[in-house]
Amino acid sequence: MTPREPFFDEPHRALASLVRAFGDKYLRASGPDETDPDGRTRELVRRLADAHILEWAVPPPYGSMDLRGLVAVREGLAYFSSLADTAFAMQGLGSYPLSKAGSDVQRNRWLPEVARGSVICGFAVTEPEAGSDLAAIRTRATREGSIFRLRGVKTFISNAGLAGLYTVLARTGEGDGHDGLSMFLVDADAPGLGIKPLEAMAPHPLGEIRFEETPAVLLGEEGKGYNLALATLETFRASVGAAACGLAARALDEALRWTQVRRQFGRPLSEFQATQMALAEMHVELEAARALVRHAAWLRDQGEPRIPKEAAAAKLYATEAAQRVVDRALQLHGGQGLMRGSTPERLYREVRALRIYEGTSEIQKLVIARHLLKESR
Ligand SMILES: Cc1cc2nc3c(=O)[nH]c(=O)nc-3n(C[C@H](O)[C@H](O)[C@H](O)COP(=O)(O)OP(=O)(O)OC[C@H]3O[C@@H](n4cnc5c(N)ncnc54)[C@H](O)[C@@H]3O)c2cc1C
Repeated sequence: MTPREPFFDEPHRALASLVRAFGDKYLRASGPDETDPDGRTRELVRRLADAHILEWAVPPPYGSMDLRGLVAVREGLAYFSSLADTAFAMQGLGSYPLSKAGSDVQRNRWLPEVARGSVICGFAVTEPEAGSDLAAIRTRATREGSIFRLRGVKTFISNAGLAGLYTVLARTGEGDGHDGLSMFLVDADAPGLGIKPLEAMAPHPLGEIRFEETPAVLLGEEGKGYNLALATLETFRASVGAAACGLAARALDEALRWTQVRRQFGRPLSEFQATQMALAEMHVELEAARALVRHAAWLRDQGEPRIPKEAAAAKLYATEAAQRVVDRALQLHGGQGLMRGSTPERLYREVRALRIYEGTSEIQKLVIARHLLKESR
């Protein structure tokens, strides 16, 4: 028998079922996501840990993470709730620099807690003047004995104010560019750390962080922070595509249901060929996105150390396709799809951020083209 999930092994299929059951039980009602994203995120992290899903955000020996696990969880959670997807993903993204470059002491101190959900993580890279162009980072880290002190501002940071632990990219070297950047661990209780909440169009725990002589501990080697940030983003990029697939799958299911119950001109919408064309195209876009996402994850799990082009292609295609699928689902719902509280309306707001965070669609295209040109030389 051909397995329904061709790039997955048995543990990933079992994980996908576990996440579906979790979603059915805890995430069907979307109300709490909208009214209190911060409180809801705290609750979701706890529940994900209790359900043994959160451990898939952290690599062994502290957790069970591989890339197919990441994509299985993110697609499954995003189907029900973007906030649940973010709660899971940020535990992984925020702690990955520590998993990859931390000392044994640093990892033993934090990673068991991250996998258990008793500490929430944030990944602070973006600044007001440094979004797509990370070489423009200005937050400065100055050495003071065995620690450093940070001064600067990070913005659009997921889990700002909720996190107990941040990984932060800051400048240690002289001059501009990537070479002088280093990665740091910052305890959220450290003095000199201020938070300003930000509100996005869809519920998302988001804020600005201001560092004023905040103590920070170097992660890995000085001057290697940019590479560490890129390795982190590359590892999680395909999984953003997976979250997009979850939103698109939900949109398609909603469209399939609605077009069979809504009647116009004496028959269900699903009997019009125009509707059938739309449904078929939505399905094909979703399956194409899934294939790119799972292929990228599978490649990395087979031992391919770097997958920059494949991860960028997966994120680019899946997030753009999901936007189109969600938009079509809303269109098929007519006015009902625009109503506050309807699922198409929620998906429409939630899907938009995915084409921007962790590298915009334009930046993914630049990454893909750079690799194509290098390979053709
Ligand atoms: C919901 C949300 C959560 C986020 N969470 C985090 C987080 O946890 N941690 C974190 O560090 N950051 C986070 N971000 C920030 C995010 O990664 C940045 O918003 C993103 O990298 C884009 O940067 P920017 O917003 O400054 O846009 P800009 O870089 O100013 O880009 C603006 C536009 O110009 C385009 N552009 C830029 N350069 C080029 C170029 N060379 N060629 C062609 N087009 C170009 C972009 O594609 C975009 O369309 C989050 C953002 C959002 C929306």
